[in-house]
Amino acid sequence: MAKQLGSWVSGAWVAGKGKPAQLVNPTTEGVLAETSTEGVDMARALAFARDVGGPALRAMSFKERGALVRKLSRAIHEKRDELIALGVQNAGNTRSDAKFDVDGASITLGAYADLAEELGDAKVLVDGEPINLGRSSKLAAQHAYFPLHGAAVHVNAFNFPAWGLAEKAAVALLAGMPVITKPATSTALMSHRIMELFVEQQLLPAGALSFLCGSAGDLISHLRGQDVLAFTGSGDTGAQLRGMKNVVAGAVRVNVEADSLNAAILGADVESGTDTFDLFVKDVVRDATQKAGQKCTAIRRVFVPAARLDEVRDALADRLSQAKVGDPSREDVLVGPLATKKQQEDVLAMIDRFAKAGCKVVVGGGKPKEALGVEAGKGFFVAPTLLEVAAIDAVADVHEHEIFGPCTTLIPYESTDALIAAVRRGGGGLVASLYSDDKALVRDVVYGIASSHGRLVLGNEKVAGSAVPPGTVMAQLVHGGPGRAGGGEELGGIRGMELYLQRVALQGYGPLVASLVEGGKRV
Ligand code: NAP
Repeated sequence: MAKQLGSWVSGAWVAGKGKPAQLVNPTTEGVLAETSTEGVDMARALAFARDVGGPALRAMSFKERGALVRKLSRAIHEKRDELIALGVQNAGNTRSDAKFDVDGASITLGAYADLAEELGDAKVLVDGEPINLGRSSKLAAQHAYFPLHGAAVHVNAFNFPAWGLAEKAAVALLAGMPVITKPATSTALMSHRIMELFVEQQLLPAGALSFLCGSAGDLISHLRGQDVLAFTGSGDTGAQLRGMKNVVAGAVRVNVEADSLNAAILGADVESGTDTFDLFVKDVVRDATQKAGQKCTAIRRVFVPAARLDEVRDALADRLSQAKVGDPSREDVLVGPLATKKQQEDVLAMIDRFAKAGCKVVVGGGKPKEALGVEAGKGFFVAPTLLEVAAIDAVADVHEHEIFGPCTTLIPYESTDALIAAVRRGGGGLVASLYSDDKALVRDVVYGIASSHGRLVLGNEKVAGSAVPPGTVMAQLVHGGPGRAGGGEELGGIRGMELYLQRVALQGYGPLVASLVEGGKRV
């Protein structure tokens, strides 16, 4: 019988009723576990988080909360191998893909634990300098941040079961808010194990972190004013949740991380054989293959000067056609299956749609001929795929739809103006990367596309040996983007904590105001 997973809510493991959802191994299609949240009392779970977890966290200083976050980081790191194995089994990750997720989780928690040390023994963050309201400092004001008194609900996507849980929880817990976290059901095995570790070792005060394994049920409909919803997933679900009556009426804070047509741009100055060119090719290939292309930050559109199209096509086609697809537990396999059958169907349908709209299929374009080490016909595989358009505006779909799989599209451009306009047609992205050693070009492109992105990665010969790839989200830098990307912003050190804090203007007798925020880190 498949393993039965429970939810950790209101301080206890609870099993759902009714017909369970199945968690599948996407390589073998075998059922690994089952879970249900039917019958879980969501209103009670929220009340427990707000009333028990909230006061416990708010009674602590940043430093004390940071110590908790550090314990979570260590607990994940100690069971790294076990967790990686679960990523291979349930998410179709190669070991390297799963490490990216699991290590990303412990590193992000660790980074917020470090930040807590800097924030010190205070319970308040101080925003800017005191403002004199009269001629002297007798009457003064000070802006400061205090934690909200509700619960933070975190809804995550299927592609990062460890990091998704950790990156959101680290920020909210450090800010002083209790969390109810919900991984995507299909790949929840790893998140479930992480939660088991936290509970077994009693790392957190009661109510500080709850865990919902399965459908969210009516959870979101119980949110109210002091609660927060941080969502990662499709734009459609994000829009639906943001528009719910209680969410709108209660002005519940909502952060959405959604789709993104991330661009990689090769500057017209970059010749093949240079370090900058090689960095560009490496980043594009990594993003088309790592996690089988199921990264929100993966490069979907590859903009190349028209005059260099042939050499770029050759370089990418060569690498992608050699990428081995198959059982992700094998050392020689670079690309595992997609996480679910639905993902595979959606990706294949979208590739077909792009091809019918005029994209040339350079490499791949369907299921792979062979999946190494996998029974014929089994597994949710898609071959690494390189598409190409004849001209920058030739296929509108390329600038409007995300293919969330091992697929990217080559797009030739003739001028910097046309390039900027086309990148912006993506409607708002998480990240774009620009590879150029021409300072003037970099400046033009950055000023042209900055307002439609959350992050811009600038690759050149000076950083080619040490660059952090655009697909890697770092705790110190903001993650999010405008428009299609959801309009959200996570991480970025202290910046990410603002979602969980209320900025208050304290005004009155200057010395009294100053005493209220004494010891607080000025940000
Ligand atoms: P999805 O269907 O929107 O699901 C995402 C999450 O929302 C899952 O946990 C899902 O739970 C939950 N959910 C669905 N309907 C809900 C509802 N009515 N109320 C509450 N929760 C609900 O997204 P997906 O298609 O699985 O995910 C892939 C998409 O996520 C891609 O388009 C990708 O671009 C995006 N993504 C974005 C980022 C980012 O950081 N910007 C990161 C990763 C992925 P169940 O699993 O239980 O259905």
